[in-house]
Order: sequence, then structure tokens, then C-alpha cells
Amino acid sequence: MSDSAADRIRPAGPASTATGLSPTEQAAARSVLAGERERTQARIAALQRDFDGIVLSSASGSADDEHDPEGSSTAFDRQHVAALLSQARDQLAEISRAAERVADGSYGTCERCGLPIGAERLAARPAAATCVRCAAGQAAGRV
Ligand SMILES: [Zn+2]
Repeated sequence: MSDSAADRIRPAGPASTATGLSPTEQAAARSVLAGERERTQARIAALQRDFDGIVLSSASGSADDEHDPEGSSTAFDRQHVAALLSQARDQLAEISRAAERVADGSYGTCERCGLPIGAERLAARPAAATCVRCAAGQAAGRV
């Protein structure tokens, strides 16, 4: 009785090694991604505050214009922060997709060519979905 119960809780070993990522590596990837997600969310919140501040000061602050010798810098700041914000949101989406890939076992494998992405690249960019070669190809257009 107790033997068969133990059998049922045993994790499916061979299936999880199919991607070459050990359970320890998967756990590590999950915690790295969780940290990345937290940092990115904090960054988005901070950027959003900056953005709201800029919008507010430019909307309500025609009286403040005298303090600002370059009125156009506000528009520039706003564009700059908006760009950073959209970058950070893309990154957050990328991190979510990477977390899903950890769950389905495809994390660490290039989405395009199916080869391993490589530990070095994953250390630098934990949410990377493609290997260096494919990422370079993407940047350069179709090769
Ligand atoms: Zn690739």
C-alpha cells in the first residue's frame, strides 16, 4: 500500500531531462526570472511615475514655463520615457514567455533553430528566446 503511494509521488524523471535542463537548473532559471520580473516591474512603476509627472507638469504647468528655459525638453523627455517604458513592457512580456518555457520544458532552447541558447547568453539575458546566431540574424533581417 505505502509502496504504491510512494510510486505515485515520484517525479517524472526522464521527461524533464529531454531539454537538457536539470530540475536544479530549472529551479535556478525560475528564480532568476522571478528576480528579473520584479526588477522590471519596479522599473515600469518608476518610469510610469516619471511619465505621469512629465505629463502633469506639461499639462498643468503653463505657469511653470518660465522656470523651463527650453520648453521643448519636456516633449523630448516624454518621448524618451515613453520609449523606455515600452521597452520595459516588452521585456516583461519576454520574461513571462520565458517563465512559460521553463514550465513547458523548452526554456534554454532557441525558438527559431531549436539549438541550445547557451548558458553564457542566458546568464546575460535570462529571458532570451533565441540563440546569439538567430538574434543576430533577426537584427540583420533575413539571412
Ligand atoms: Zn537559434
